[in-house]
Amino acid sequence: MTENAYANALRQYDTAVSYLDINPGLVAYMRMPKRELTVNFPVEMDNDSVRVFTGYRVHHNTALGPTKGGIRYHPSVELDEVRALAMWMTWKCAVVGLPYGGAKGGVICDPKTLSLRELENLTRRYATEISVLMNPQGDIPAPDLGTGEREMAWIMDTYSMHLGYSVPAVVTGKPLAIGGSLGRSEATGRGVMVTTIEALKHQRLAVEGARVVVQGFGKVGAPAAYLTEERGAKIIAVSDVQGGIYNAKGLNTRSVLAYAAAHGTIAGYPEAEPISNAALLELNCEVLMPCAMENQITGANAARVRAKIIAEGANGPLTPEADEILRRNGVFIIPDILCNAGGVTVSYFEWVQDLQSFFWGEEEINERLRRIMVRSFNQVLRVADDKKVEMRTAAQIYAIQRVAEAMQIRGIYP
Ligand code: NAD
Repeated sequence: MTENAYANALRQYDTAVSYLDINPGLVAYMRMPKRELTVNFPVEMDNDSVRVFTGYRVHHNTALGPTKGGIRYHPSVELDEVRALAMWMTWKCAVVGLPYGGAKGGVICDPKTLSLRELENLTRRYATEISVLMNPQGDIPAPDLGTGEREMAWIMDTYSMHLGYSVPAVVTGKPLAIGGSLGRSEATGRGVMVTTIEALKHQRLAVEGARVVVQGFGKVGAPAAYLTEERGAKIIAVSDVQGGIYNAKGLNTRSVLAYAAAHGTIAGYPEAEPISNAALLELNCEVLMPCAMENQITGANAARVRAKIIAEGANGPLTPEADEILRRNGVFIIPDILCNAGGVTVSYFEWVQDLQSFFWGEEEINERLRRIMVRSFNQVLRVADDKKVEMRTAAQIYAIQRVAEAMQIRGIYP
């Protein structure tokens, strides 16, 4: 994450609110987090020493409902970054119409250097420390960088132990066996695919044979690639951190996935030529899906991007400078808060299923997700047309409007 993530989040917010007629007091209120918690806590390490860790949980806004947002384990976690991510979560949930506000949490640590026992101790203690804010009615965490199903299971168990009964709805992204949802693992990539198909239609480009390039073949990029291929597009290049592969005739992405599972990387996949990550971003194609990490397209390479559509599977893959250049060059951008919102949408489904103790089939989940993504894409498009702005600002405008409306209707307490 950039050092100035929070400055970016605020800059985007200021741009979007300038198109809206909202009470200045509410504008000021939405500009800041509702509450922030810093926790310093001890963890017993394998060598019997005690190490103090610092973690955060930030709630940005609760006008639309309880807060939702991931927990990140990374050495570079800092409060400003958590604030930015919490704010983006508010907009992301609002843009797809979920009854949630935004939150984010994190612990400053390098999980790769911790043993399994240390990680479990850290997670259970952090969960306990933030349980003053976390509960199924108020704040529902999820995985983010450095955390996954295993950590969510520990958090669910810790919270449940304190209460004396199982509370699966306290966290999402859990394993299926303890209340996770079908379709969650593919959900973000599926949303990227759905919004990409809508964007191709809007740009009057055929889906059949459309050339698609995917940077990052992970939890988001791989499903985005094979699901888009299944709709008739041609995936001409994909990459991971070790490098990329290119085949002008189109890759068989399921076979690439099997190769990656066997070799730990896609590099060396036989039916393709190698390509560098830098060159991959500049390939001539209809759709570029940056699904790896932030700041991949910058002022330095944006002018060489030849894609007609960019689908932001990753969070913040374009810098503001790149955004400006691409906009001038007429590239249609599906912004991250819309494009990758499929993940939080199926997290919402997981929470609903847990609260009802009634689980849905995968087809039903995928269809509900598709409908939400199509509807949201078109709503944002309408705002873009209406206000004559690009999709990123339109998505923010639409989201801010929904949050502001909820606050106005609810009124200021007392
Ligand atoms: P992941 O770790 O599963 O996959 C990331 C992929 O990117 C890996 O294949 C990795 O090798 C590759 N990669 C890393 N650095 C790269 C580089 N410099 N060049 C090319 N490839 C590189 O992570 P993920 O969960 O797929 O997340 C990817 C992005 O999507 C992140 O920005 C994340 O915040 C965002 N996101 C994820 C989800 C989700 O549900 N997982 C939801 C919303 C947003």
